[in-house]
Amino acid sequence: MDAPRGPGGRYARLMLRTVILAASRSSRIERLVETAPFSRDVVRRFVAGAQSADALRVTRELVGDGRAVTLDNLGEDTVTPAQATATRDEYVTLLGMLAEAGLTPAAEVSVKLSALGQSFDEQLAYDNARAICAAADAAGTTVTLDMEDHTTTDSTLDILTKLRKDFPSTGAVLQAYLRRTESDCRDLAVAGSRVRLCKGAYSEPESVAYQAAREVDKSYVRCLNILMSGDGYPMLATHDPRLIAIGEDRARWFDRGADRFEFQMLYGIRPEEQARLVGEGYTVRTYVPYGDDWYGYLMRRLAERPANLAFFARAVASRK
Ligand SMILES: Cc1cc2nc3c(=O)[nH]c(=O)nc-3n(C[C@H](O)[C@H](O)[C@H](O)COP(=O)(O)OP(=O)(O)OC[C@H]3O[C@@H](n4cnc5c(N)ncnc54)[C@H](O)[C@@H]3O)c2cc1C
Repeated sequence: MDAPRGPGGRYARLMLRTVILAASRSSRIERLVETAPFSRDVVRRFVAGAQSADALRVTRELVGDGRAVTLDNLGEDTVTPAQATATRDEYVTLLGMLAEAGLTPAAEVSVKLSALGQSFDEQLAYDNARAICAAADAAGTTVTLDMEDHTTTDSTLDILTKLRKDFPSTGAVLQAYLRRTESDCRDLAVAGSRVRLCKGAYSEPESVAYQAAREVDKSYVRCLNILMSGDGYPMLATHDPRLIAIGEDRARWFDRGADRFEFQMLYGIRPEEQARLVGEGYTVRTYVPYGDDWYGYLMRRLAERPANLAFFARAVASRK
């Protein structure tokens, strides 16, 4: 179900991505997909399960296989303080469970500030994030702040700076598709600074983001070079074989061993490649989402790789 190659194919892929990302914001389609009988099978490929116990089970398996893990409690764009506080409490509970199970420091957590109230009360989002960082610290691990759409970048980096005063290992995420990111990489490539570099998963206007895949990839390489030659701790989040090869090359060039950078990939995507990199002696962290609120996450995964739609379609067909 991949769109055809060539300039026409590129246009078709871009259109498909735009349509799927638009669907990710439609509450009507959300209800349809969430209640469809086939959804469970599709979701299971990318999401650990609904409960923290599922997250713990999958973490234990992955850590047993030599992987590091970052856990994401699914949910974003909360609109009430009560929802934001509930998300905070879920993370605090999860971190306690991880510590009790002996899964820290191998497992850390990834947090979306929009799930903690960022869109309506930045101070509340900061307070909630701070409480999660404190719980992570007590559990012997740390937090990475996921990056969302470009309207939140400044606010997220401001909150990161404040959090790092007390919790210096708090990780940042930078998105290579944003034109500003090379400059952000330079600012953040400093000692002790954990920075996840990804391509970026949101639909962004041309004024702020590269649109062509080739431009995004070139930006990724420029940013990777800045981070790998800098003083921080780069976290290369990609499934792209060419970018992974470049990451391996720069690791050799800059003499970065398994304790000085890591690869990151999503749960359910390219598991054999994740295992290969572990076998080569690299640190590989798998991003494991869990929880009920999987719709937006799933749609972004489908938009990234329309071939995943084939998987989705097969699941539909097999349930007819
Ligand atoms: C750990 C992690 C954390 C992330 N955090 C964020 C975040 O905070 N904010 C944000 O905006 N985005 C985040 N992302 C998503 C990211 O921005 C991209 O949207 C996503 O990773 C897809 O980009 P890619 O680099 O894998 O390359 P793509 O261009 O999607 O894929 C490149 C190539 O990788 C291979 N590939 C990709 N998927 C598959 C597959 N399913 N099976 C087989 N091969 C495949 C194919 O060869 C493909 O051509 C995160 C990604 C990861 C891995």
